[in-house]
Parts: sequence; C-alpha cells; structure tokens
Amino acid sequence: MHSLAHSLARCALANGARIVVNSPVSEVIIVDGEAKGVRVSGDSLLDDKTIWADRGVILNTHVKQIPDLISRDHVNTTFVQRIEDLSLKGGSLFVTNLIVKELPVYKDAPEEFSPDDYPVGMSLHCDTDNVMELMRTIHSFRMHPEHPDEYAGIWYIVHDQHDPTRGRAKKAGAEGHVITVNLQVPAPEYHRDGPDAVNKVKDEIVDNIKTVLRQYAPNMTDDKYIATPTNTPYDSEFRNMAFVGGNWEGARSSQDEWWSNKPLPEMARYRTPIAGLYHCHQTAYPGGLCLIAVPYNLMHILIEDYPEMKKSTPDWWYPSPWHITDEEGGTK
Ligand SMILES: Cc1cc2nc3c(=O)[nH]c(=O)nc-3n(C[C@H](O)[C@H](O)[C@H](O)COP(=O)(O)OP(=O)(O)OC[C@H]3O[C@@H](n4cnc5c(N)ncnc54)[C@H](O)[C@@H]3O)c2cc1C
Repeated sequence: MHSLAHSLARCALANGARIVVNSPVSEVIIVDGEAKGVRVSGDSLLDDKTIWADRGVILNTHVKQIPDLISRDHVNTTFVQRIEDLSLKGGSLFVTNLIVKELPVYKDAPEEFSPDDYPVGMSLHCDTDNVMELMRTIHSFRMHPEHPDEYAGIWYIVHDQHDPTRGRAKKAGAEGHVITVNLQVPAPEYHRDGPDAVNKVKDEIVDNIKTVLRQYAPNMTDDKYIATPTNTPYDSEFRNMAFVGGNWEGARSSQDEWWSNKPLPEMARYRTPIAGLYHCHQTAYPGGLCLIAVPYNLMHILIEDYPEMKKSTPDWWYPSPWHITDEEGGTK
C-alpha cells in the first residue's frame, strides 16, 4: 500500500500538484448549496488555511467523518442519522508480526510446508463452531477472545515467502522470517471495557496467538521468536485519521452496507447531498480491497458532472465498458 501511495504522490507532483501535510480539513466551504473548497486546521502552514476547488471537492475520509465536516445548515438530520447508524462491526484486526528464526512446521501436514515451497497464507483454528463462537464473543459480548481456544480463524501471511524484499529481517541480512497474523477483535468504539481495552492486554493476546500456533506447529517454542511488533485497531485509528474502528474494510461487510448500498444507496455514485462534494474512500463503493476501483469509478461521475474534464484526461485513461451513465439510468 505504501508503494502505491508513493507512486501516486510522485505522479501528482510531476503533474504540478502541491501536497500539503499536517493540514487536516476541518470544514467544507459551501456557498449557495455547492461545495467550493475546504478550510484546514489552524496549525497548517497554508497561509490562508483555505483551499478553493475549481471543480469538485473530493473527500478521502471515512463516511462517518463527513457530518463533522459539513455545517448542519446544509444537510438534513435524517442523512446525518443514517450515517451515524452505519455499523463498524466486522473488520477490526489485531495485527501482530511474528519475526521468527524458523517457519512453523505443522505436525499434521509437514510435507505441505517444505522450505522450498512454503505457502504464503493459511488460516488456523478455523472450523465453523470456532468462528461462530468468536463472532459471538466479539459482536454479542463486545469482548476480545480471552482463552486460546476462542482464537478462531487466525490468518497467517508469510510475507518474505511472497516477496523476499518484504521480509524485514531478511532485508537487514539477518536470519528469519516475518509472519503477519490477523485476529478479529471488537471495534474500539464498541468494546465492552472501553476503546483501549485490547491495547491493555496486547502482550497477553500475542502469547495466546503463540500458544495456538504451537498447538499445530510444535517447533514454535518461545526461543524461535526474535520480536513481535503489534498493531491494534486502536493503534490504526491514531496512525490514520480515516481508520475509524481500525477496520480494514472500513465498515460492516453485510449486505445492507455493502456493494451498491455502500456506504448509503444515495452515495453509491460518490455524490453526496451537497452539489460538488464527492466521497472517495474505502467506505465508498465498492470498498476495501477494490481500492483502485473507487477513484476509477469516481472519474466517470466527475466527467458526467464536469464534461470539460474529458479534454484533460490522459491518453492512457479509458472509461469502463460497464459504467452506466446517468443518461442510461445509472443513478436511478
Ligand atoms: C490491519 C489491516 C490490514 C489490511 N490489509 C489489506 C490488504 O492486505 N490488502 C488491501 O488491499 N488492503 C488492506 N487493508 C485495507 C487498506 O489498508 C485500506 O482499504 C486503504 O488504506 C484505504 O485507503 P483509502 O485511501 O480509501 O483511505 P485511507 O488510507 O484511510 O486514507 C484516508 C486519508 O485521509 C486522511 N484524512 C482523514 N480525515 C482527514 C481530514 N479531515 N483532513 C485531511 N485528511 C484527512 C487520513 O489521515 C488518511 O491519510 C488493510 C487494512 C488494515 C487496517
């Protein structure tokens, strides 16, 4: 994700964009019902703390942050309430990176894990009963799993197996591998014991993950671990303002909040109730893991709303053959 962001930044700079950091947008400027620009925080180095848009204003923020950026004079309370009602349940991941001296050898299938052809990803402790129990713990009891038996569906990704340059230990010339482990926990906002509850038991959760791993791969004794840097959903929220819930999918991935219902049916084509204000984030359609589709789809909408944009699209850009224009009934 980092390489992608950097390529985009370099491309933007090469095309004359100016990128201003540490300047959070505090308000969308709306004139006569139309978005005209944004005001940024007082700490910004921008002289007049304002950016005017010559066409649309595009917000790359979590959908739940939109009401805070728009004066309530311009949106109705139903719209705000509908955004507040969106659920964050489902994708808040506790991530720990196991930097290990050797890879796990799973006792039930050692031949599947030969060093020359070691699988990149796998999931442990993942039968339906385990997963259902974990979902009940997280979503009904609003708790993180406490006992190793409850640690269902833990995903392991062996990064340097996929791409040797991703293995930090290897890159530094050291022995070892990096295994990223993801475990679902409640969104910090919903945790029974408060938003920092998972952070308070970080070490305990890492120990439990190691215990589960050792049940399947007995070679993973404590001496095999070099370090275990960990990132909780709460940490993600502090690192990245738009990761509300620390949710890798942005919001709940159930039918009523997914696909063309994402984030709300009336915003599925990136337009908001404010003319000239667009939403382009992983909480927009189609969402997490289809990221390039979000700005690509938005381009079609912008070209419909600002036909002059068509003249400045580069040669390599082409419209999707599947896009249904407004004229063809797309918005309907
Ligand atoms: C644990 C985890 C694992 C993941 N794994 C994968 C994976 O393997 N593959 C994959 O494809 N995706 C993965 N994702 C998802 C992926 O990281 C996100 O979908 C992606 O980063 C979303 O990009 P975005 O540009 O929509 O939003 P963001 O990355 O959230 O960017 C929004 C930006 O806007 C800024 N911002 C917010 N509010 C304001 C404001 N008011 N003013 C100015 N700036 C503001 C934020 O600081 C941020 O820089 C993972 C996510 C997590 C949390």
